Amino acid sequence: MSSLEIDDLLSRVNRPGRYCAGEFNVTRKDWRQARLRLALAFPDLYEIGMSHQGLQILYHLVNARDQWLAERVYAPDIDLEQALREAGLPLFSLESRRPLQEFDVVGITLPYELCYTNILTILDLAGLPLRAADRDSGQPLVIGGGPCAFHPEPVADFFDAILLGDGEEALPEMLAVIQRGKEENLERGRILEELAATPGVYVPAFFAPRYDTAGNFLGTEPLRPDLPPVRRRVLADLERVDHTASPLVPATRVVHDRLGVEIARGCTRGCRFCQAGIIYRPVREREPAAVLREILDKIEQTGFEEVALLSLSSGDYGCINELLGQLMDALERRRVSVSLPSMRVGSLTPEMMEQIRRVRKTGFTLAPEAGSDRLRRVINKGITEEDLLAASRSAFELGWKLIKLYFMFGLPTETDDDLEAMVELAHKVLRAGPAGRCQVTVSAATFVPKPHTPFEREPQLSVDQGFARIDFLKERLRHKKFKLKWHDPRQSYLEGVFCRGDRRLADLVEQAWRDGARLDAWSDHFSLPRWQAVAAGLNLDLDRYLRRRDAAEPLPWDHLDVGVKREFLAAEYDRALTEEYTPDCRVHGCSKCGLCDFKTIRPVVYPSPAESVRGPASDQESAGRPEVGIGYRLIYARRDEARFLGHLEVMQVFFRALRRAGWPQAFSRGFNPSPRVSFGPALPLGTESLEEFLWMELTKPLADLEGARAELNRQLPAGLEVISLEPGGRRQPNRLFCAYRIRVPVEIDPRAPADLLAAEEFVMTVQRKGAQRTLDIRPAIADCTLHAPDELELVLVQEAGRPTVKPLEVVAALCSLAPGQLAAARVVKQWSRPHI
Ligand code: SF4
Repeated sequence: MSSLEIDDLLSRVNRPGRYCAGEFNVTRKDWRQARLRLALAFPDLYEIGMSHQGLQILYHLVNARDQWLAERVYAPDIDLEQALREAGLPLFSLESRRPLQEFDVVGITLPYELCYTNILTILDLAGLPLRAADRDSGQPLVIGGGPCAFHPEPVADFFDAILLGDGEEALPEMLAVIQRGKEENLERGRILEELAATPGVYVPAFFAPRYDTAGNFLGTEPLRPDLPPVRRRVLADLERVDHTASPLVPATRVVHDRLGVEIARGCTRGCRFCQAGIIYRPVREREPAAVLREILDKIEQTGFEEVALLSLSSGDYGCINELLGQLMDALERRRVSVSLPSMRVGSLTPEMMEQIRRVRKTGFTLAPEAGSDRLRRVINKGITEEDLLAASRSAFELGWKLIKLYFMFGLPTETDDDLEAMVELAHKVLRAGPAGRCQVTVSAATFVPKPHTPFEREPQLSVDQGFARIDFLKERLRHKKFKLKWHDPRQSYLEGVFCRGDRRLADLVEQAWRDGARLDAWSDHFSLPRWQAVAAGLNLDLDRYLRRRDAAEPLPWDHLDVGVKREFLAAEYDRALTEEYTPDCRVHGCSKCGLCDFKTIRPVVYPSPAESVRGPASDQESAGRPEVGIGYRLIYARRDEARFLGHLEVMQVFFRALRRAGWPQAFSRGFNPSPRVSFGPALPLGTESLEEFLWMELTKPLADLEGARAELNRQLPAGLEVISLEPGGRRQPNRLFCAYRIRVPVEIDPRAPADLLAAEEFVMTVQRKGAQRTLDIRPAIADCTLHAPDELELVLVQEAGRPTVKPLEVVAALCSLAPGQLAAARVVKQWSRPHI
C-alpha cells in the first residue's frame, strides 16, 4: 500500500485531515528499530478519540521506551471504510500508514458500549478474523482496556486479553510478556497463559459462561483451577509516572480541543448510580506543584488557549483554590482560560467561579441528577435544592447568562412527583437569575443501571417509558427561556443491554455489524429496529437483559473483581432505600468499601494549606482594553497533507503555532478574546497553494524578522511554511485575482480555454451549503490558458459579496470530468493579487 494510494483515497473522503497524523508533537519512530509495535486503536471517529485522555497517556508512555513503538488508528468514517473496501486496501496507522496486520499488538480502548460495532470495523479492515479463537500466531494480539472492560462479555470473544484498571504500569508489563513471547517464538496460547498470570489481565478464552437448559445465565467460570482471579489494577500514586511528554495538538477539529491535565483520579462522593465512582477508587490527587509546573510547560509546548483540569470532580481537588489562583495569575495575560469540566455543586465556591471568569466564561453546568431532594438522597447525591439554587444565584450574579442542568429519569424509586420536581427546579433556577436575561438548558437521559454499582440489579426503563418522560418534560418546559435536550431512549436501551449482557451478545454485535450497523453512538447512524431484527433472528430477548435481577441471581460481570466488596454494594443499595447518606471517605473516614489496604493503596489527598486565593492582578484590568497593535503581513505556502485541512483548521493551527513561537499577539477585547489575525480567502479543501497570506497585529515589534519566521516554521506542521514576513501590509482587499494550476487525468480539448473566454456566459450548477444553485460563473473568470495537454492555468476573480467559484468546479464543467477523475485532479494555487 503506497502513500500515493492513500493520498488518492483521502482526496475522496470527507475531512481527510483526520487520517493524516498532522498533529504537532506527533511521534514518528523508526519502524525497523522497534522490537515491539503497538497500534493503539480508538473505536470511534478521530474527533472523539483525540479528546480521550487515556489513549494519549498510553501513546506517550509506550513511545517513551526506546525499544517500543506506538502508533494510532481511529475508526474510519463510513466514506473511508467504503473507499478502502472498494480499493481492496487495509486500514492503516496514522503515523507510518502501515497496515494494522504488521503490528505485534492492536490495543483497542473500550470507552462506551455503543462503539462495539466499530471494533469489528477496525478488525475486519485490518484483515484480522473477528473472533480471537480464529486468529493464529502470525497475527497481532488484540487487547482491550477502558471502562467497558469491567463488563466486557458482549465483546469478550473478539479480544485475546482485556486489562481491568489503570494501564500505566500494567500495559508495559503486558507488552513485556508479548515481546518476550515474540522473541522466543512462543505459541499464541503460551503468551496468553503468561498474560493471564499478569495481575489485572482477563483472558476470555480461559473462562466459560454457563447457562441452564432454559437459557438462564448461571455464571462465568475459569476453565482451569489454577487461574488467578482477575482483579483490577490500581496505580497507587499518579506521580509515579512521567507526565512530561508533549501533548498532541490536533490540526483538525476535535470535540475537546484543549490541553487536558489530569489533577486527580477517582471520586468517593459515593453517588449510587455512578460506575466511575467505583471503578476508579480511591481518590488519588496529584501534587499541586507538579500539576502547576506541568500545565505551564505544556501550554508552552502546545499553544493551546484553554486548559481543562480533569478529574471526576475537579472542584473536590484539595488545593483547587490555590491551584486556580496561581494558574490564573500565570495564564491570564496569555489569554489562556481554565475550565473545570466536572464540577459538583457543593465544591464550587464563588471564589472559584470568580477565578474562572477572569479570562473567559466557560459553560456553567450543574448536575442535580434527580428532581427532588428525596430522590437525591436515594442516589446519595449529597446536595439539596437550596445548594443548587445558591450556586445558580452566584453564577448569574457573576455574569453567566445560561445554566445547564443535567437530570436522569428512571432512577430507582422514581415517582411522578420526582418528575414534577425536575420541572419545578428548572423554573426556580430560571427565577434565580435576572428576569428576562437568562436561560436554562435541561438535559435529560434514561438511567442505565451500571455493573459494579449499588444499583446494578435495578431494572431499566423501556424505550416507551423513556419517551413518555421526555414528552412530559417537553410539555412542561415550553417557555422560550428553556431549552430541552435529551439522550435518545433507544440508544440508552441498547447501552443498557450491553452493560448487562453476557457472551451470547457477541453474535448480536457481529450480525448487526454484518447487517450494516456502524457508529451507533451517532444518532444519524443508529437504528434500533436493525438491532431488534437481528436479535429476533438470533432468538435473543433483549428486554430480558433490562429486567430486575434478584439478589441471588449470578451476574455476567461477577467473575471480574473491581476491588470494592459485593457486601458494600448490597449495603449501599439498602441505604438507598432508606435514604441514608454515605459520606465521602476522603474527608469523613473510611466507609469500608474494601478497596484500600492502607499499605500500598489508600486515598491520596493534598489538603488546602489555606483559603488564600490570589486577587486579580492588574492584568485583569487590561483584559477589557483593546490592545494597541503593530501590523505584520505574512505569506505562507500550504502543500502536501496540509491541503486536507479546512480553513478554520488552518487558522487554529496558526494561532497555536504563534503562541508556541512566543510572538506577542494582540487580542480582541471582551469575554472571549481572540488573536487579532485576519486570513486571506478560504482555499477549497484539497487545493495546495504556493502563496496564502494573513495579516496580524502584535503588541510589540519583532526585533529579528528572519529569526521569528524560522521559529514560527519550526512550530508549524509539515506542509505549512511561512515564506515571507514583513511589517505593515494591509488587510485583504475587496477584490482579488487568484491563479490556479490544475492538472487533470484526461487530455483537455485545446479549444476549451479560448471558447470559455469568448463566451458571454457560462452557467453551471454547483452545491452550496447542501443545496444546488445555478450560477453564471463567466464574470468570475479573468483568464484561462493551456500549459500542457493535461494542465491549464485558471485566473479567478474573488470579490466580496459575490458567490465564490471553485477552480475544480470550472475545470470539471470545462472538461466534462467524472467524479472519479475529479478526485485525481491536482490543484495548486500560484498567486493572488489585487490586479493583473
Ligand atoms: S476503602 Fe475506605 S478509604 Fe478506600 S476507597 Fe473505600 S471507603 Fe474510601
